[in-house]
Amino acid sequence: MNLHEYQGKELLKKFGVAIQEGIVADTVEEALNAYGKIKEQSGSKFAVVKAQIHAGGRGKGGGVKLAKSEEEIKEHANNILGMMLKTPQTPGGLEGEGKLVRKILIAEDAYDVFDECKEYYFSVLMDREKKCNVIVYSTEGGMDIEKVAEETPELVHKEYVDPTLGLMPFQVRKVVANLGLADNKVAGKEMAKFVSSLYKAFIGSDASLFEINPVTKRADNRVIAVDCKVSLDENALYRHKDLAELRDVTEEDPTEVEAQSFGLNFVNLDGNIGCMVNGAGLAMATMDIIKLSGGEPANFLDVGGTADAERVQNAFRIILRDEKVKAILINIFGGIVRCDRVAQGVVDAYKNMGDQIKVPIIVRLQGTNAEQAKELIDNSGLEVHSAIALQEAADIVKSVLQS
Ligand code: GDP
Ligand code: MN
Repeated sequence: MNLHEYQGKELLKKFGVAIQEGIVADTVEEALNAYGKIKEQSGSKFAVVKAQIHAGGRGKGGGVKLAKSEEEIKEHANNILGMMLKTPQTPGGLEGEGKLVRKILIAEDAYDVFDECKEYYFSVLMDREKKCNVIVYSTEGGMDIEKVAEETPELVHKEYVDPTLGLMPFQVRKVVANLGLADNKVAGKEMAKFVSSLYKAFIGSDASLFEINPVTKRADNRVIAVDCKVSLDENALYRHKDLAELRDVTEEDPTEVEAQSFGLNFVNLDGNIGCMVNGAGLAMATMDIIKLSGGEPANFLDVGGTADAERVQNAFRIILRDEKVKAILINIFGGIVRCDRVAQGVVDAYKNMGDQIKVPIIVRLQGTNAEQAKELIDNSGLEVHSAIALQEAADIVKSVLQS
């Protein structure tokens, strides 16, 4: 689950990280009020208007603007609120459709125009191979870190943190030194506090990623987080009720959100063969065999253990919403669930949905009562192809697509 910049910054603040202060707004009027308040609170002369969407690179797409007066706040808030913001990370990239901006952050101008600021890059994530957490950091913040990593990899540092030991003081000192701040007493101390508080925030919120680009050292030697991207581990949300409430479903794929409400595990993909499978492992294997047979899966869909008519119907509806789908492959292993019950569910759902289903359906049922299930489907009179072996199912998909 991803957070907005303003939510991520509030989280950082709770763990003692100094941030670029801001107030979130969803109307121009609120933006104006926020401008007054933020100038008073922070003492900064100006403010920045920042689009709040779940994508980075907003600056490049015109989603981050400095405002030097009430007029400019009005102008930028007006332009940014409701715009379809295109960034390198929104669907289709800078040439794509973009993402609708529903909220903006009115933030203190962290860069007094005449100040000399230094921007750093920081992220904390997990390195599965090393079985450690890792802090990735660089003196080259503010711009494309991917480009820095490609062209000057020596400028991207990594500090591996053993999760059982935690971040050790010598590691913090090493980070400070690598950023060239060892001889700057005030900024060095500020940076040390930043690094240890950031790591605490990562652990304390069960996050899978914190990325802060830029972290800025201002001319007065204060070190603050100017941006913040957070991904939380959904499996740990049960112990963070307050964080779970920060979810913004308007930022997520609407079909995936709907599938979740039916208890279906669904991920949208680019191909043309819809899949309905029970069990995540079998779903992966099914996607593999579709690819090996020359097709491309349109989705990953795990219907779970109880594939009754209602569930199957919901799953059909969700798969069919994707216009690219040219055939649906249902692959169920009957272990606890009996195949004939699933087959009945498929037949019922198919009958209930009438002419909404215009694509061929290939059903492969294996396990308990598989033979009876095949008979049920073959005798249903519906345009459903049945198979018992998975390869057989894949071959039918192939021949159906070619005809
Ligand atoms: P991103 O483009 O989505 O990564 O959004 P950021 O929050 O990183 O902002 C993009 C850029 O806007 C930053 O790299 C800064 O150069 C600039 N920026 C952000 N905050 C301020 C600010 O307070 N003052 C000024 N002058 N520029 C800012
Ligand atoms: Mn950024």
